[in-house]
Amino acid sequence: MIIFKKVVDIQQYIKNKVDEGAQIGFVPTMGALHEGHISLICKAKQEARVVVTSIFVNPTQFNDKEDFEKYPVSIEQDMAMLIDADCDVLFIPSVSEMYPNGTDNMPAYDFGYLETVLEGTQRPGHFKGVGQVVARLLDIVNPHYLYMGQKDYQQCMVVGNLLKQLNSSIRMVICPTERDDDGLAMSSRNRRLTEPQRAIAGLLYQCLVSIQAKKDDGSFDIVKKECEDLLKAKGFNTEYISLADAETLELLNEYNNNRKMVALIAAKIGVIRLIDNLLLN
Ligand code: AMP
Repeated sequence: MIIFKKVVDIQQYIKNKVDEGAQIGFVPTMGALHEGHISLICKAKQEARVVVTSIFVNPTQFNDKEDFEKYPVSIEQDMAMLIDADCDVLFIPSVSEMYPNGTDNMPAYDFGYLETVLEGTQRPGHFKGVGQVVARLLDIVNPHYLYMGQKDYQQCMVVGNLLKQLNSSIRMVICPTERDDDGLAMSSRNRRLTEPQRAIAGLLYQCLVSIQAKKDDGSFDIVKKECEDLLKAKGFNTEYISLADAETLELLNEYNNNRKMVALIAAKIGVIRLIDNLLLN
């Protein structure tokens, strides 16, 4: 695996590879890698791409200072996992390499409705930061394929929207959510859970499964209330449990099996904020 820290160096390497006829697959991450990230790299490898992974904890997408400061970092372990997964290139830029002129003069993308619901409401400015960093990374790497996780459902929609705004020919490949045995979606933030918190964290997925189970003959309102009560009793602080049209993210009050639906959940256990989602039909 080749490691690059400088934009000019990775660009030269990629140019040479593309001239040789390679197809570039790109997996942007914030590090603290787990099997969820690795599944994206494996998918890209299976599709015979030259795989570029980036690790950059982007300060502009954190609306919570403590979340940023405590974001787990494990670069040595990450590198070992990437080598094991046969990743070809690791890009680890510094903040000044990513934003040499600061971020004030960089283009700010507008994601309209997508910024006004769910994560957009709970994390003001988050998707502006995501748009900024993904646009910059795509400009540097210029891949043919971009691999993203369904785990961050709304982020996939925002990035899809960004690709449209950029008139980009990059193809986004959305990969399924990797889970632990109890259903908890793998996440770098899970590392910050204490043992008792980890023991109950699988409840988030159980809530999504029970929402799915009721889709044909139940009421979303009722099952949502049951989930909220259960999570509250276990000490979670629920931010949202929502049902939405899977293609537009239009929020739905009730099940509608004529539409493709997704259930989305965000809750805090202590100070750790977790999100998850499940396609219902
Ligand atoms: P992050 O490092 O959290 O920014 O995630 C980098 C990429 O990995 C994003 O596209 C995420 O959606 C994806 N990802 C994170 N967790 C998982 C998971 N459990 N399963 C599949 N993909 C994931």
